[in-house]
Amino acid sequence: MFNLILFGPPGSGKGTQSEKLIERYGLKHISTGDLLRSEIARQTALGQEAQKFMDKGQLVPDEVVIGMISSALDENPQAKGFLFDGFPRTAAQAEALDKLLDLKNSSIAVMLALDVSEDELIKRLEKRGQTSGRSDDTNHQVIKARIVEYHAKTAPVADYYRNFNKVVMIKGEGSIDGIFNGLCTEIDKRLREKQETAPLSGE
Ligand code: ADP
Repeated sequence: MFNLILFGPPGSGKGTQSEKLIERYGLKHISTGDLLRSEIARQTALGQEAQKFMDKGQLVPDEVVIGMISSALDENPQAKGFLFDGFPRTAAQAEALDKLLDLKNSSIAVMLALDVSEDELIKRLEKRGQTSGRSDDTNHQVIKARIVEYHAKTAPVADYYRNFNKVVMIKGEGSIDGIFNGLCTEIDKRLREKQETAPLSGE
């Protein structure tokens, strides 16, 4: 399996780039934001609980999100690899993900981190709010709260993977295709390394 994390603050373009990456590399896309919004739309108990946090721009509790990821991994035993988008968002989630992947004899190959200035993030989120139908994109206070949560709880996740030398920063401003090419260059490099080190009869 080849697993990667697309990392970055809200509005950094993870969703847009994920769509292009899964198409090129045939990975299974796991977006915790999308999974949570689907639970809300289906009015499940999990969705109702999660909505209370999302409406305030706060992170949903770790155990809720980790449970969802565990199910998503189990539901896709044939996947060539996973692209994690919006997860892990706390150090506890990162540790849980490593354990879940370890159980499947797998691991994270790389974390690609999109770097976007704060002014640009706010501009993009407010613009998305005009069309996305997402209530957390229309309220300025909620947008601010999400960015505060990102700095407090999510940015340290990059340090966790930095300890394993797995983080690559990519400039997340410029054309969508330019950013995509930057991401692909890094992925291709790691896929080549993986091929070179794979045992002849191994995966
Ligand atoms: P964005 O990154 O643009 O804010 P997402 O769709 O990734 O959008 O997330 C929307 C909201 O869903 C977050 O503000 C948060 O409340 C919740 N959420 C998504 N992923 C996680 C996660 N891994 N842990 C906790 N909460 C999450």
